[in-house]
Amino acid sequence: MQIGHLDSYTSEQWARVRGRLRTEVGEAAFRSWLKPLTLVGAKDGVVRMSVPTRFMRDWVRSNYAERIFALWGDENDVVSKVEIVVQPPTRPDPKPGSDGEACAEAGPRARRAARAPSKSGDDGLYDGKASGGRREISAPLDPRFTFENFVVGKPNELAYAAARRIAEAKTVPFNPLFLYGGVGLGKTHLMHAIAWNIRKRTPERRIIYLSAEKFMYQFVRALRTKDTMAFKEQFRSVDVLMIDDVQFIGGREATQEEFFHTFNALVDQNRQVVISADKSPTDLEGVEERMRSRLGWGLVADIHPTTYELRLGILQAKAEQMAAEIPGKVLEFLAHKITSNVRELEGALNRIVAHGTLVGRSITLETTQEVLHDLLRANDRRVTIEEIQKRVAEHFNVRVADMHSARRARAVARPRQVAMYLAKQLTTRSLPEIGRKFGGRDHTTVMHAVRRIEELKATDHGFAEDVELLRRMLEG
Ligand code: ADP
Ligand code: MG
Repeated sequence: MQIGHLDSYTSEQWARVRGRLRTEVGEAAFRSWLKPLTLVGAKDGVVRMSVPTRFMRDWVRSNYAERIFALWGDENDVVSKVEIVVQPPTRPDPKPGSDGEACAEAGPRARRAARAPSKSGDDGLYDGKASGGRREISAPLDPRFTFENFVVGKPNELAYAAARRIAEAKTVPFNPLFLYGGVGLGKTHLMHAIAWNIRKRTPERRIIYLSAEKFMYQFVRALRTKDTMAFKEQFRSVDVLMIDDVQFIGGREATQEEFFHTFNALVDQNRQVVISADKSPTDLEGVEERMRSRLGWGLVADIHPTTYELRLGILQAKAEQMAAEIPGKVLEFLAHKITSNVRELEGALNRIVAHGTLVGRSITLETTQEVLHDLLRANDRRVTIEEIQKRVAEHFNVRVADMHSARRARAVARPRQVAMYLAKQLTTRSLPEIGRKFGGRDHTTVMHAVRRIEELKATDHGFAEDVELLRRMLEG
């Protein structure tokens, strides 16, 4: 990294990693576990972060370390390891790295240890660096995302069956498999499961799994370093290509073109392609017509919002995995109350289990309601984008119409960005949907707004408080 040589740069990256974690795990889990993480140092590819207690360190390590490492990897190629250390907040002027014994690591080595379904060693799929120091293009896989850990129900049975079929078939059964559905419903989980499964059965097959964002990033970098040949080569020699969250490719002409060529080349050679998105191929915005139609040629499988039965099934499976004693009533209560998506459901369960462990009390309906009051309230009443726009406009003293207008003056653009950011945080709307509600803006504009606000929040304390206040008002 020589991430050491520019601290503001590193802090910016950290702000983005935090922001993405927050969006991914949900507000409640973020506040309990990830907010206390502090960046204490970064040197020679090792990022070091601290938490105040040992318990927290263990929890973060077992639940989030993989993800934190992956997100850092997205930000900075040089990151090869993430360390989480304990540093009590009371200690004056802490010396980063003094707590060697308390060190938890989530690097290639730690990951290898956690990698349950693997036998063979070095395929370079998981390591930050492939043999010879060249960075492997594929993103790391989450060891928890296996078929065994996936609970099947009505809403996801087609997607599950299709994923299994692809993982187990000797010849390509349909191409591409296009998985789509709302956020937190298991698309990434299924893709990782396919990869794990294929790896186990036929370790010689080359698999690339990565997000569309990462694909674009790699491509743009290849263009910049005039290394597009190697880029193409790498992608076109795989047996299985999986691209996650393809909606992000919309509106980017050059990358879309490259993606389309890669896609066609692979399908023509009868290599398996798996795609996920938050929308069906026909609804993908900013994507060329010929590509949209091509994406729908194979099997299109959608994952529907969860049902009560599925949520209960997932909670039961998770509780069993965690070996936690949780009364059936509590699980039923959660399955009734937390209807947004599986990620929030998991977050809620983690929180009540952690609370039980911490205070050494058994879990009851009362403690559950107490521990999750903020989350339950948020799930009771979902804010609309219109409400957000109205509140934010009032707060910053601009007109609601400016939320939709094309005016770019800072005085209106900043409030608009705040509103977009809050819309992303507080509603389940996708980026394109949010963009549409803001005068038909592109989803990349929304993405940019979200990042920008996260950056500002990380650097400007007053601003962060302002946004926090608005959020609380809207939630309450
Ligand atoms: P998406 O990619 O669709 O946004 P993910 O695959 O990241 O969603 O899933 C979010 C979380 O929910 C993950 O931790 C995943 O393991 C879990 N999850 C989603 N669906 C299921 C399921 N059917 N069974 C078990 N866990 C699930
Ligand atoms: Mg996903």
